Amino acid sequence: MIIFKEPASLATFLNEKRRLQKSLGFVPTMGALHAGHLLLINESRAGNDLVVASIFVNPTQFNDAKDFQKYPKTIEKDVYALEKAGCDVLLLPDVEGMYPDGTGNGQVYDLGSLETKLEGFYRPGHFQGVCRVVHRLLDIVQPDRIYLGQKDFQQCMVIKRLISIIGSEAKVVVCPTLREADGLAMSSRNMRLNPDQRLTATGIYEALDEVRQNQHTKQVQELEASAVSSLTARGFRVDYVKIVDASNLEPVAQISSGKKMVALAAAYLDDIRLIDNIFLN
Ligand code: AMP
Repeated sequence: MIIFKEPASLATFLNEKRRLQKSLGFVPTMGALHAGHLLLINESRAGNDLVVASIFVNPTQFNDAKDFQKYPKTIEKDVYALEKAGCDVLLLPDVEGMYPDGTGNGQVYDLGSLETKLEGFYRPGHFQGVCRVVHRLLDIVQPDRIYLGQKDFQQCMVIKRLISIIGSEAKVVVCPTLREADGLAMSSRNMRLNPDQRLTATGIYEALDEVRQNQHTKQVQELEASAVSSLTARGFRVDYVKIVDASNLEPVAQISSGKKMVALAAAYLDDIRLIDNIFLN
C-alpha cells in the first residue's frame, strides 16, 4: 500500500492510473478502523481496479470540540488493517493539506431540509463540514465509485446531494451496517465505551429492533415514545428516535407497506454519542 500525505502528490499519481483506464474506488474514513470500514474496502476491492482510502479526522464537521479532541486514533493498526484488506493507496493528510486556505469560512452547500432534520438539527454545521471535506476529497481522488456505510444514513443522503451539486461523476455505493454479535453497530466511538457502557450500548439496536418488530401493531408515535423510554430507562440521554420516509426523511403518520421507511436513533452514554438506524417494512 502506498501512503500519500500530500493531496497534490496523490492527485498526480491517480491521474496516471486514470490515463491507464484503471477504475478507482474510494473509501473516506476518520480512522480508528473496525470491520465495518473494512467491509467498505472489500466492496471497493471487488468493484474496482484500485482501492483508495483516506484517514482524516475532519475538524470542520465536529460541532463539539470535546468530541473532536477525544476522537480515537489508532493509525498504526489502521495502516496494518488496510494493507491486509487489500487497500492500494492511503491518503493521510494533515489539516493544512486538506484546508490550504484555512478551516474558516468556506463554500456553503444548499442541503435543503437535510440540514435541519435529525442529525442536521442536533449537530448544527456538521453536514456543511462533511460536504467541505468530501468535496475536497472528491476533487483530489476523482473516484469512479465512493463507498459509504448505511450506519450514517443521513450522511449518505447528504453526500449524494453534494455529488449532484458539484457535478461529480462518482457513483455512490451504500454498504450495510456491520454489527457486533449483540447487535451494536460498529463505530469508532465504541472504543470509548467502558465495559458497563458497552453492555448498555446495545440498547440502541434493541430499541430500533423493537420498533421493527412492533411496526404492524402500534402507531408511529407510540413506537417512537416507547423506544425513547426504554433508552432513557437504560441511562441514555436521547436526542431522537424517529420513523421517517427513507427517501426524504419526512416524518410519517403511519407505517405503510408502499413506502420504504427507516427508524433512526441518536443517543448519548455519558459524552459518547451513538447513532444507528434500521429499515422497516
Ligand atoms: P467514519 O470513519 O466513522 O467517518 O466512517 C467512514 C465510513 O465507514 C462511513 O461511510 C461510515 O458510514 C462507514 N461505517 C461506519 N461504521 C460502519 C459500520 N458499522 N458498518 C458499515 N459501514 C460503516
